[in-house]
Amino acid sequence: MNQAKAPKKKIVIVGGGAAGIELATRLGKKLGKKQLARITLVDAQNTHFWKPLLHEVAAGSLNAFEDELSYLAQAKWNHFHFVPGQMASLNRAEKSIGLNPVFDDNGREIVPKRTLPYDQLVIAVGSTANHFNTPGATEHCLFLDNRQQAERIHATLINHYLHAQASGNPDARLRIAIIGAGATGVELAAELHYAAIELARYGLDAIRPEHLEVTLIEGGDRILPALPERISTSVRHQLNKIGIRVKTGQLVSEIRTDGLVVRSGEFFESDLRIWAAGIKAPEFLAGIDGLASNCINQLLVRPTLQTTIDEHIYALGDCANCTVTNRNGESFTIPPRAQAAHQQASLLAKSLITQASGNEPLTFNYQDYGSLISLSRFSAVGNLMGAITGDLMIEGTLAKLFYVSLYRMHQMALFGKLRTGTLILKDLISQTTRPQLKLH
Ligand SMILES: Cc1cc2nc3c(=O)[nH]c(=O)nc-3n(C[C@H](O)[C@H](O)[C@H](O)COP(=O)(O)OP(=O)(O)OC[C@H]3O[C@@H](n4cnc5c(N)ncnc54)[C@H](O)[C@@H]3O)c2cc1C
Repeated sequence: MNQAKAPKKKIVIVGGGAAGIELATRLGKKLGKKQLARITLVDAQNTHFWKPLLHEVAAGSLNAFEDELSYLAQAKWNHFHFVPGQMASLNRAEKSIGLNPVFDDNGREIVPKRTLPYDQLVIAVGSTANHFNTPGATEHCLFLDNRQQAERIHATLINHYLHAQASGNPDARLRIAIIGAGATGVELAAELHYAAIELARYGLDAIRPEHLEVTLIEGGDRILPALPERISTSVRHQLNKIGIRVKTGQLVSEIRTDGLVVRSGEFFESDLRIWAAGIKAPEFLAGIDGLASNCINQLLVRPTLQTTIDEHIYALGDCANCTVTNRNGESFTIPPRAQAAHQQASLLAKSLITQASGNEPLTFNYQDYGSLISLSRFSAVGNLMGAITGDLMIEGTLAKLFYVSLYRMHQMALFGKLRTGTLILKDLISQTTRPQLKLH
């Protein structure tokens, strides 16, 4: 007798960033390929770009076209499905999500509003900078949350240089204020300083490198507040050396067209302002269909990464608030980092695979391997944490190598060892055949 085949379980992953695309790739290879489940990845964009590279795109040291990955291609190679669209709603009773329509650049609707059913839903929609409703921030600041924004910063930078070149003013200056001296702000500041040197080398020398004035404005009493103090001291020293001004203990209270005001009333004049402070998960997640969320819209999850309210819905990466207990019995919240997104994606892939065979969900344990800060071509500083190294501070080339390895690990999860090796080779070769900076 012909037995009717059970319908395949539908696993829908929303957000193909650092966490989501690794998860979709792993599940596609293990479950999708063997037709044990239908894996669908939804993303508001058509291509994946690894977010920790955005400051390099903003400064022009990296051309985003060279490192973007088509979701459709990755889906085809790894046995999952890609659906373009922005999640806007959730219906837990019907087990479906609602997607906004997709429009082209002229506002013409290409894909209508849709719903997508799921059996297990994974939310991995990341985060954006948090401007804490500071007056003037959205109007007068640039942001660095996605590729388009990074490219906008780069285009604005180049336009300032072209304008200065055409004006013939031998004393032209460009003042950039970066709000937030966390990893993003610090790395961006160093990268912009490198861009100033390179732009002059390529003939855009009306603004001399020392006339690109980058100021980091930080509300806390030291830069890199999430990292150990000795790292922030060392990085501050290096920033001073390359001429980047650092203002700590300065909470920004208002942004204007020509600068920003801090709580003490002091005014910092600037031509460009880039907001790089804080994070928050997308607004639409706040309390979505009864799920529990915190004050920055992150979904509360258990150590299994299942949301506290609904066991069929998981959240990971920057949009999840996950508290776990370490070996010493201390509980801590997983930081919003690529390293955490990568580890959570690996765990959740294993967990969903084992659940497909009827087992219980696995529990996430975070291993902090340390933090690394890249100061563009000048240096890198950070600490490594491990059973053998303990808490070891590193600087210079070794730190740079470990910094780069985080991206290579992401590529390895997406493409495997062989293709990652080929990509490294391609990057080395292309460094010799193109300008050191994107000049358009
Ligand atoms: C400039 C910069 C530098 C950084 N450097 C480092 C670093 O050196 N080391 C480090 O550990 N971390 C770094 N980070 C943090 C790191 O990038 C994040 O922690 C990590 O990307 C989080 O991964 P994620 O998958 O949660 O989210 P993301 O990588 O942000 O991906 C979210 C995805 O969801 C999609 N999406 C969003 N909303 C929707 C929606 N409604 N519907 C459908 N899709 C949606 C987005 O298009 C995106 O593809 C940096 C961040 C920035 C901005």
